[in-house]
Amino acid sequence: MKKALILGVVLMFGFALVIGCGPSGEKQEAAKAKTTFITIGTGGITGVYYPTGGAIAKIVNKKKDVYGIRCTVESTGGSVFNVNAIMAGDLQFGVVQSDRQYQAINGLAEWKDKGKQEDLRAVFSIHPESITLVAAVDAGINDIADLKGKRVNIGNPGSGQRQNSIDALEAVGIDYKTDMNAEGIKAVESAGLLQDGRIDAFFYTVGHPSGSIKEATAGVRKVRFASITGIDSLLEKYPYYAKAYIPVKLYPGAENTENVDTFGVKATFVTSIKVPEDVVYAITKEVFDNFDDFKKLHPAYAVLTKEGMLEGLSAPLHPGALKYYKEAGLK
Ligand code: GLU
Repeated sequence: MKKALILGVVLMFGFALVIGCGPSGEKQEAAKAKTTFITIGTGGITGVYYPTGGAIAKIVNKKKDVYGIRCTVESTGGSVFNVNAIMAGDLQFGVVQSDRQYQAINGLAEWKDKGKQEDLRAVFSIHPESITLVAAVDAGINDIADLKGKRVNIGNPGSGQRQNSIDALEAVGIDYKTDMNAEGIKAVESAGLLQDGRIDAFFYTVGHPSGSIKEATAGVRKVRFASITGIDSLLEKYPYYAKAYIPVKLYPGAENTENVDTFGVKATFVTSIKVPEDVVYAITKEVFDNFDDFKKLHPAYAVLTKEGMLEGLSAPLHPGALKYYKEAGLK
């Protein structure tokens, strides 16, 4: 281990010596010195956040020579984790549910004790996400009301969906602590657990189509989307929830033949006020200037419009994003 490290240092030093001499070496060194490394926090690899981070990184990294920005993507526990990691300076950007953005900036839910996350800044919103309840047909679950007494993955702490599941259950009079066996496992494991018979159902707040839901609906155990109804009180109470449905034709393996009622939020792209204006400007500009190419990078982006990407944001816009929107006549 130690030897490998020493060898690595020697090699690096040698490499620096080689590229450090001569005119082209100087150029490379200068470019290296200017490179800004940024990381985007996403979600589980079978969600839509992870490919979304990848799509943004792909567009931005194409212009590495222009901006000196090198963008990488990290798989994480989801929205709440991402907000906290951005606030701590461990990540520079993240994909975060619109409801979680609202709660963070206003000091609600997971941020009730910590207070308002005043450094949080919005960049743009992305695809719609729906609160998706996937259930095994043999468990006899057609609607959220049927979850009493069942084993259900409501989402890991750190995920966006966990609070959505709890809110929906509460709205229909189910206490997740006492009326059912609630699991708090990462979404990436849900499909496997359902297929293995270890859970009866799971919640996932996600864009469609998603790898996780494809995996869940393509196994031997028959699966259906259960509706989430009886939640009018929820929609009235919280400004960030809206009616939505699951487009079941995207999942031919599911038992449903008609779209399934539920509610939804939006995925948004956020950062911190501490991230420099030119970095946020560059990312915003590249995504919007290459909007048609960006839209092709995931089928969940089919519904996106430039104007729509400025909606669903509750944290103040980062000055770098605002600068671009003004230039582009979007603000
Ligand atoms: N909405 C989920 C969350 O915030 C992540 C969904 C995804 O990864 O696509 O935890």
